[in-house]
Amino acid sequence: MTKSDLIIDGKAFAARLLETVSVEAFEFRDQHGHAPGLAVILVGQDAASQVYVSTKMKKAEEAGIKSYPYFLESTSSEEEILSLICKLNSDPLVHGILVQLPLPPEIDERLITTAIDPAKDVDGFHPVNVGMLSQGHPKLVPCTPLGCLLLLKDRLGDLAGKKAVIVGRSNIVGKPMASLLLNENCTVTIVHSRSRNLRYECSKADILVVAVGRPRFISSYYIKPGAVVIDVGINRIDDDSGKQLVGDVDYASALSVAGAITPVPGGVGPMTVACLMKNTLIAAKSLAAAIDN
Ligand code: NDP
Repeated sequence: MTKSDLIIDGKAFAARLLETVSVEAFEFRDQHGHAPGLAVILVGQDAASQVYVSTKMKKAEEAGIKSYPYFLESTSSEEEILSLICKLNSDPLVHGILVQLPLPPEIDERLITTAIDPAKDVDGFHPVNVGMLSQGHPKLVPCTPLGCLLLLKDRLGDLAGKKAVIVGRSNIVGKPMASLLLNENCTVTIVHSRSRNLRYECSKADILVVAVGRPRFISSYYIKPGAVVIDVGINRIDDDSGKQLVGDVDYASALSVAGAITPVPGGVGPMTVACLMKNTLIAAKSLAAAIDN
């Protein structure tokens, strides 16, 4: 096996996924007279969030999804954001609503994400969608873990019985990833900052998903030979090699033991955006079906 066989090319997989979504999005437009619609709300001028939002809008256009951007002042009140969400919840041309996080500190993120109609919650953060996922009946699933799962199934096929260890327990990545893998009949362990014997736990994993937010945190010593490693981390660092983007896994070191690994960039990142488009299409189809019935 060559080194390139070990690399899980998320960028190429995401491009294929977007292609499939775009075919179905154009069929949807032909059937319903309008494209699937995605409203994107950005509050404030956070530079990284602006980049994420413009990437999402660009990819939406490529996928045949119409985006409706709403750029609100950082001084916007909770009431203003809630009133916009209320309007979008009842807009028949909008099938997905995304509020770019993080929100300014004085805004209650939970209040805002919970105000989104669960049927339009393409980020999958609403308690209804979280509950559906954890009960084994997923509808709209958080995009990053969904992207990780698609890459894992593509590489490994049936995941039943595999031991999966997830490093990180955030609501956005770690917890939904655990639910998804449990639904695939994996034996799942979540480790976090209070866990003991982190290295031991990780070294038992057939599947290791790392979402910690610490550059190159996981090295080859944590990885079972042949394990499939999914690196969710995106860290901007400035070291001897200059400014660069690195994951939560020490890629060079991990490559010497892993059976397969996602690179950063070009691994999970593009999958997140592609899964957002997939979710928007799913939402559009199920809202249209609900109207037809
Ligand atoms: P959070 O900061 O919300 O969560 C980090 C998790 O890592 C927490 O559960 C924390 O534990 C755990 N952790 C921190 N330090 C340690 C440690 N020393 N040992 C074990 N566990 C530790 O991060 P996110 O989940 O939102 O994001 C994680 C990474 O993924 C970031 O780099 C982020 O940029 C990236 N990301 C990438 C996306 C993509 O599209 N590729 C999308 C979303 C995130 P505790 O709960 O105990 O504090």
